[in-house]
Amino acid sequence: MAKIEAYIPIVGASVIDDLRLIAERLKGKLIQHINSTAVGGGVAEILNCMVPLLKELGVDTRWDLIKGGEQFFEVTKKLHNVLHGRPGEVTDEDLEVFMQTSRKNIEEVETYGDIVFIHDPQPIALVNKKGAGKDNKWIWRCHIDVSNPRQKAWRFLREFVVKYDAAVFSAPSFAQRLPIRQFLISPSIDPLSDKNKELPQETIDAVLKKYNIVRDKPIITQVSRFDRLKDPIGVIEAYQQVKRYNDCQLILAGGTAADDPEGAKVLAEVREKAKTDPDIHILLLPQNDIEVNALQRASDVIVQKSIKEGFGLTVAEGLWKAKPVVASNIGGIPLQIKHKYSGLLCHSIEGAAFSIKQFLNSPEYAKKLGENGREHIRNSFLITRHLRDYMLLFLSLYHPEDIVYL
Ligand code: UDP
Repeated sequence: MAKIEAYIPIVGASVIDDLRLIAERLKGKLIQHINSTAVGGGVAEILNCMVPLLKELGVDTRWDLIKGGEQFFEVTKKLHNVLHGRPGEVTDEDLEVFMQTSRKNIEEVETYGDIVFIHDPQPIALVNKKGAGKDNKWIWRCHIDVSNPRQKAWRFLREFVVKYDAAVFSAPSFAQRLPIRQFLISPSIDPLSDKNKELPQETIDAVLKKYNIVRDKPIITQVSRFDRLKDPIGVIEAYQQVKRYNDCQLILAGGTAADDPEGAKVLAEVREKAKTDPDIHILLLPQNDIEVNALQRASDVIVQKSIKEGFGLTVAEGLWKAKPVVASNIGGIPLQIKHKYSGLLCHSIEGAAFSIKQFLNSPEYAKKLGENGREHIRNSFLITRHLRDYMLLFLSLYHPEDIVYL
């Protein structure tokens, strides 16, 4: 893992000095993150960068996982979907499955941190341990777009949320009416991680070769778990519309997350849709950050045509690589893409196809928006800004009456 000084050439020395000063004030506090998976998806991605950096700054930080079986993760996936406002609703039986596993985790997971930092709905019920034994502070970090949740699911979760000392959301539109303090903190990417660091051309070429991708026509790429909310079928349809005018190829690169039971089904639908088109490359990547990095760097256009998105780390990853990005105008994506300045926002398959063609036909325009995107990410969405926000949040819990500006 990169030493904190290594960020100085990217963000400037004063940013790192600030981090050190704030970290000093957290000496003696133990921060405990808890979520449901160590790999796959944005939460694990961020914690893998965040935890070692906090430690390096001298803030004692640990990361624990809850456990759950197949049935539990089916229910939490359903919860995830309906909190995003997708059709359907959780049943009483679903909630009972959720509570059964939660009760087991409440018994088995030790919440020893001075600050217990719970990520997303899966471990939310651990807060029932609050006040039993250790006098710790509890934060619920919501990574989901809950601007328009199904009511039964949200009412169920809300019972837990109100027990926390604070809640954190990714974008202003996700904030909820709650009797606890709320913070708006956007996620971030680590510019020095394997996922985002500069790569030699030979590495990029080797990855393309490994997957039999020849660079004889432009490459359009979406990197995402195989999840309907990422709309991989819509991406194929957009590509097919583009291909009538511009010969090109599509990479759909994804893995599955340990807490996502739907992945295999969606992957089968995607394979069926792609049929035998030799220009569609469906890559089931093992957890391999260098390969994702190389594929993003090899791309002419990056797409993120999600139907719902908490933040959309892949957008930041694409922009940081100065790529022209076409992405849906939903969730946290418009925080990252100012339309026609740092990328193009779309609202439909046709819109996505139109924007991809625009980039393919105007390389100078594509280059300019990619460069603007990189600077926007540098200013607002790198891990150093995120570390600062989290540390100020931790401090604010010990000063509830003060206003803390994040
Ligand atoms: N990712 C990956 N391999 C994959 C699919 C996704 O490494 O096969 C990474 C992707 O690069 C990004 C994260 O997983 O860093 C996904 O975060 P995002 O916010 O885009 O979506 P989420 O999966 O959290 O909904």
